[in-house]
Amino acid sequence: MGGQDQKRQIVRASYILAATGVLDAFGHVSQRHPDRTCNFMISRRKAPRLVSVSDVLELDPSGHPVSEPGAQVFLERFIHSEIYRRRPDVMAVVHSDSPAVLPFTIVSSVALRPVCHVCGFLRSLKAPFDVAAVAGEGTDLLISSAALGRALADYLGEAKAALMRGHGFITVGGSIEEAVFNAVYTQVNARIQQEALRLGTPRYLTDAEAQACEAATLTQVARAWELWVREYAS
Ligand SMILES: [Zn+2]
Repeated sequence: MGGQDQKRQIVRASYILAATGVLDAFGHVSQRHPDRTCNFMISRRKAPRLVSVSDVLELDPSGHPVSEPGAQVFLERFIHSEIYRRRPDVMAVVHSDSPAVLPFTIVSSVALRPVCHVCGFLRSLKAPFDVAAVAGEGTDLLISSAALGRALADYLGEAKAALMRGHGFITVGGSIEEAVFNAVYTQVNARIQQEALRLGTPRYLTDAEAQACEAATLTQVARAWELWVREYAS
């Protein structure tokens, strides 16, 4: 096991995230290994649109490839390994550098907040994670060590998304479909909020509304996934 089905899900997720502009040459998506649940599956170091089933590797909790030692792996694989270590409920992780979301990571006076019914999960978002507070002056902003991955995973806490200052964001989910959904709609929310801010002062969802929306949306994830697979990954 750990098999072809999971690998295909990583490829589909990669295509969907590339087609929706959440990922470009950079960024990645992973899934917890179904059998060896301390391990996770992620593609080798490659642009998501170019990934195929044979590119999906199994990595151990330290970020080493077990299925193909010596394979080229992402520098930022520690984002994934440390979230899986800290959050047993998380089955999939997306890391994106979306230019639609990035402004909210560098302008501290404007917070990314839920503005529409499919984005209730953003209610748990905090101020952006500042890697310089951990890595120090002169950081390249990358989460390129287990220590930095742990700091980011701690910062994420129990939330479903976290922003990274000057870099991008992460989303997680109880399934790969949910993690992808959350990534796509983090970007959608950012675009809507930016448009609304040009018009005036947006009316954000209240926390109670966001909570209700989050619960309602969880039942709709499969519907979006089915469409996206048809449009972008079949
Ligand atoms: Zn990155």
